Amino acid sequence: MQGIIKGLAYTLKHIPKKKVTHHYPDEPMEMPDRFRGIQHLDPEKCIVCNQCARVCPTDCITLSGRPHPDPGKKGKILDTYNINFEICILCDLCTEVCPTEAIVMTNNFELSAYSRDDLYKDMEWLHENNTNIRSENKV
Ligand code: SF4
Ligand code: SF4
Repeated sequence: MQGIIKGLAYTLKHIPKKKVTHHYPDEPMEMPDRFRGIQHLDPEKCIVCNQCARVCPTDCITLSGRPHPDPGKKGKILDTYNINFEICILCDLCTEVCPTEAIVMTNNFELSAYSRDDLYKDMEWLHENNTNIRSENKV
């Protein structure tokens, strides 16, 4: 009996306190700014140096480019860029090595899908994933 009273007292004491639970997914979760979330890619900034693909520990980045069509301009332009989020571990190494910050982490984390194929994200998708970019990478 004493235990029940103690339990009730504890419950009543905590009812007026601020709730710590979150109504996810009805209310979106805001992750801290250094959170390692799904990458955003800016194809215009990419110089096709391949460093991100080389450093990736899980080999989940594939990309291709071609020489700039304008003969007056040096360098390459990006044609395709894909990340396979079935095996990406969001380790942040690709963004750390990128010399132009063409690829940066965001605070977005929602990737759930019914098909594994949907976890294969292309250049357009990565480019459009442009919300919640880390403040240090915002222009
Ligand atoms: S976050 Fe890590 S695992 Fe994912 S693409 Fe970048 S380097 Fe590869
Ligand atoms: S490291 Fe950056 S610039 Fe180089 S290929 Fe990757 S995204 Fe492009």
